[in-house]
Amino acid sequence: MVHHETPGRDLTDETASPEEEDWIERGRLLFAGPCDFLRGVVSLTDIPDPDRLEIAFAGRSNVGKSSLINALTGRKTLARTSNTPGRTQEINYFRLGPADGDNIFMVDLPGYGFAQAPKDTVKRWTRLVTGYLKGRPNLRRVFLLIDARHGPKAVDEEIMRDLDIAAVSYQAVLTKADKIGQAELETCIEATRETLRKHPASHPEIVTTSSAKGTGLDVLKAAIAALAAGL
Ligand code: GDP
Repeated sequence: MVHHETPGRDLTDETASPEEEDWIERGRLLFAGPCDFLRGVVSLTDIPDPDRLEIAFAGRSNVGKSSLINALTGRKTLARTSNTPGRTQEINYFRLGPADGDNIFMVDLPGYGFAQAPKDTVKRWTRLVTGYLKGRPNLRRVFLLIDARHGPKAVDEEIMRDLDIAAVSYQAVLTKADKIGQAELETCIEATRETLRKHPASHPEIVTTSSAKGTGLDVLKAAIAALAAGL
């Protein structure tokens, strides 16, 4: 079977249609506006009411999630980067958009897959995150971050399975693309595409990013703007 899905956006993709250009501008405007930290949730009882659209970021510890959120919002310390992976066991809530206007929840899920994490930490993570994924009717899409150097790992497939079961749509975002060459990147995109094909709740388009170089951020912002607009 021939797949006609849009190829993964790579760093050299410069051909955007007028419609895509429009979403890129809307994405730029959305992220140029306010983005405020609301709260860190350690227990599902503290989670905000699901009264507006929500998107979330997930990924292994050290995948570059904090760096990406900070790069998207143009703030250096909005999401806390950490050199002690596995430390943050909080679901961090941000409000993207004006407090008194249209806004969405942007959620930073705690990183997973830290090899040295104690069993209790893993248990807590599983309870918190799988509970979260099952219980958010307003959760429109999870952006699943994957290190472009490594491609999807077994732990990434575990969360993909959780998302499939919870019927939550998710989209792969490759991170740290500046660290590898074009050929390696193509290999990683293909491997990611292969993995996603096995997972029913996955979105076929893959976004390639580098927080360090700023590449791919416009495409990701555009995707979020389209979701925020109800598409
Ligand atoms: P998190 O644990 O997923 O939040 O990961 P961080 O955002 O803290 O990033 C982990 C490490 O990767 C840090 O040393 C970052 O400086 C580095 N990093 C993150 N994004 C990029 C990127 O796009 N390019 C490069 N070269 N390094 C990155």
